[in-house]
Amino acid sequence: MTPIELYIHIPFCVKKCLYCDFLSGVFDEKMQRRYVAALCTEIKYMASQVHGVEVATIYVGGGTPSWLSEDLMDSIITTVKSSFRVNPLAEISVECNPGTLSAEKLNVYRSVGINRLSIGLQSANDDELKELGRIHDYNRFLHTFDLVRKAGFDNVNVDIMTGLPHQTVEKLERTLNAVTMLRPEHISAYSLIIEEGTPFYDKYKFDAVKQHAGMETEDLPTDEESYHLYKYTMDYLEKKGYKRYEISNYARGEKVCRHNIGYWDRVPYLGLGLGAATLYQNRRADNIRDIYKYCEIAEQIAEGKEISTELSSPFYDNEETLSKKEAMEEFMFLGLRKIDGVNRSDFFNMFGIDIEAIYGPIITALRNQGFMDAKEGRLFLTDIGIDVSNQVLAQFLLDK
Ligand code: SF4
Repeated sequence: MTPIELYIHIPFCVKKCLYCDFLSGVFDEKMQRRYVAALCTEIKYMASQVHGVEVATIYVGGGTPSWLSEDLMDSIITTVKSSFRVNPLAEISVECNPGTLSAEKLNVYRSVGINRLSIGLQSANDDELKELGRIHDYNRFLHTFDLVRKAGFDNVNVDIMTGLPHQTVEKLERTLNAVTMLRPEHISAYSLIIEEGTPFYDKYKFDAVKQHAGMETEDLPTDEESYHLYKYTMDYLEKKGYKRYEISNYARGEKVCRHNIGYWDRVPYLGLGLGAATLYQNRRADNIRDIYKYCEIAEQIAEGKEISTELSSPFYDNEETLSKKEAMEEFMFLGLRKIDGVNRSDFFNMFGIDIEAIYGPIITALRNQGFMDAKEGRLFLTDIGIDVSNQVLAQFLLDK
């Protein structure tokens, strides 16, 4: 049996955050029910197309999956379990936002086998939460975290953000202190990115340009300040017993996110739901992004109609087969995001050639510059290599 991962996309949010460009929006319950019925059709359809696989992890992301009513979440997980062979020890994660969970909902989650929750906090400062357009304040997060613990979840991630407008070290410290006091098993700390098409882009686009150019900024931290906030986060979390295992991810003990490690290790995955991405049998594909079209296709399949398509799934919008070079590049880009980097023998097993035969001169140059190091058959970026990871990873593009 080949292990695979499933990513399931729930594109619904209570309200759109001001910085967010994810594929999500505000839809009423009728649309949510229609979408989940379509999603279950896609789950069954895709399960009928793949053979000899066992699901190792399931990640329900969004959007705000915890906003769905419990019967809808129940039907999604139950459909997966009745359609695919799922490892009894599979990690099953759901993304949640404060204020969208209840004790009853959490009991249903537990009863269907959900065993990991990821809660979006972003900041413990109410002024920052307001600025981000989040639906909750810090107290609401505390209430949600308490509910989650009382329901017995012992594998919980909390998301925080650095590089917020007017963020100072003191404000960041308040967030880090508040979160680490609660002892979640995992913390993800991402830097704010000003994405085109968002209200934040309209408000901060000039500042973002100045930030990238290393100039003085008005609202966003300067490039230097952002770097300081990122380093401060890393040192703070490591002192509190959170080990960094990827550029933005920290875990206590063994509680890393197995699903994400699978992405960085290029374990095959099926993306189910609107806009979800797939990597399977060395093919990459993206699902369609129009929710009405997505539902119509699923409804036609459910009625037994044939859908004509040249792609491997009627839900795909695009599909490409990766060349060996592209797969090697991906192996390096993704694997080097992990703090312990890539394994030479994995490269050989995957591509039938020594990593040195492809990347030898680049590896030597990066090691000489102090950006890369090697130990026990692994190659990994050093701290200074991670600081300039975009430039370093670009070196692994073949045919530059
Ligand atoms: S809750 Fe998450 S997905 Fe929804 S709008 Fe906010 S950041 Fe985006």
